[in-house]
Amino acid sequence: MELVFALFFGLILGSFLNVCILRLPQGISITTPRSRCPQCKKLISWYDNVPVLSYVILGGKCRHCRKKISARYPFIEGLTGVVSALLYLKLGFGVEWAIYLGFSSALIVLAFIDLDHRILPDSITLNGIWIGVLINVYLAPPSPLVSRILRAMDLEITNPRLIALMASLLGIIVGGGLLWGVAEAYLRLRGIEGMGFGDVKMMAMVGAFLGAPMALLTIMLGSLLGSVIGLFFMRFAGKARDYELPFGTFLGLAGIIAVLYGDDLVRLYVERMIQPNL
Ligand SMILES: [Zn+2]
Repeated sequence: MELVFALFFGLILGSFLNVCILRLPQGISITTPRSRCPQCKKLISWYDNVPVLSYVILGGKCRHCRKKISARYPFIEGLTGVVSALLYLKLGFGVEWAIYLGFSSALIVLAFIDLDHRILPDSITLNGIWIGVLINVYLAPPSPLVSRILRAMDLEITNPRLIALMASLLGIIVGGGLLWGVAEAYLRLRGIEGMGFGDVKMMAMVGAFLGAPMALLTIMLGSLLGSVIGLFFMRFAGKARDYELPFGTFLGLAGIIAVLYGDDLVRLYVERMIQPNL
């Protein structure tokens, strides 16, 4: 029953994310004007705005002008619904579920705005950085990495909130710093801006929320997804070699995988690769 609620809540949230993806890059308010058909500009009634269901009932067409509605709207609603349900299965209902659903939603919005416009709005990334720091201080999750570093430096800091604060700041430095380094190297070597500064800020946000190890995992997964899908597109979809890949889209997808399965992936890696004999 709760799982069904999580799914439906995610579907409705996804419907709101669609509005954000459409309006944020244009600088239009995400709350006041009600949604209109992009073709005939007629207001969409509440009964035609039910996530996924309305799309299916209307056969993917506007009720008034019968023009096609992009399948992306129900896709994003469905995606958000599934992420919400998976987060419930991992965390149960509570503050953590709400926080990580909010974080995942921000990544979904960033991923699709980057896909459409090749930009990652500061209003999400920069605000995400300080919100991520505050949330870590509030939740104070243990950080084995920071604890180990502090022990190695002979520092006796045991306050869990202080450790969480350091873990979040380290995440910003590692996540943002790594991408900044790659962007700089790219610029020096080839004289072109291979990566926008938006990716750097986005990864600083991911690091602020998830800490350094998960930020690293996100960059690795995102690069892997980008290479595989990018090569596929150049080979089969006839995209030019200089086709600019939406790296933020892959990072967003990778970040959600890190939230849901990062712990398991890291544990699997440690068990299989680093300590195969244990
Ligand atoms: Zn219409």
